[in-house]
Amino acid sequence: EPIEALLDRLCAVVPDYPEPGISFKDLTPVFADAEGLRRIVDALAAPFEGRFDAVAGMEARGFLLASAVAYATGTGLLTVRKGGKLPREVFCRDYELEYGTASLEIHQDALHPGARVLLIDDVLATGGTMEAAASLVEQAGGAVAGVAVVLELEALAGREKLAGREVVSLQRV
Ligand code: IMP
Repeated sequence: EPIEALLDRLCAVVPDYPEPGISFKDLTPVFADAEGLRRIVDALAAPFEGRFDAVAGMEARGFLLASAVAYATGTGLLTVRKGGKLPREVFCRDYELEYGTASLEIHQDALHPGARVLLIDDVLATGGTMEAAASLVEQAGGAVAGVAVVLELEALAGREKLAGREVVSLQRV
């Protein structure tokens, strides 16, 4: 089964969530499916094979995927957290969401200098989250190896916000 067909079959689409007019793509049924989880984890890692030393996951669904990719590829896991959650000194970025604003943080000493980091999340929408995470990785002395997401919401043009970065999505919707 092609991965697009698998995602069509398992992804739930929730109209008017979390706000009227937003069509929310819910990937939890993909995570819950044994084959679905294995397929997306392998497909996120494959294009970047041998080109990253650590995987960064965006809180919270990105954590699930990044953790599995890090384990599967024998690399380290970095948590990019929402503001106010990390206990030690952080770098912080404020950014705009598809709905609202937020901030992301990483520990200042999270990375070895020059570490190549693959950024992972479930959905790329406006790209604000990913661009904030990418600049945090660079501020912490790392290099962004690329960005990998399961779904890319093309109409929101996140790829344009990430111009110059290598972006892989398993499905464009
Ligand atoms: P962006 O910053 O606008 O690209 O939004 C991406 C972030 O919002 C990611 O962390 C996603 O998990 C979340 N997000 C935005 N839209 C959706 C959706 O339709 N389904 C699931 N997550 C979404």
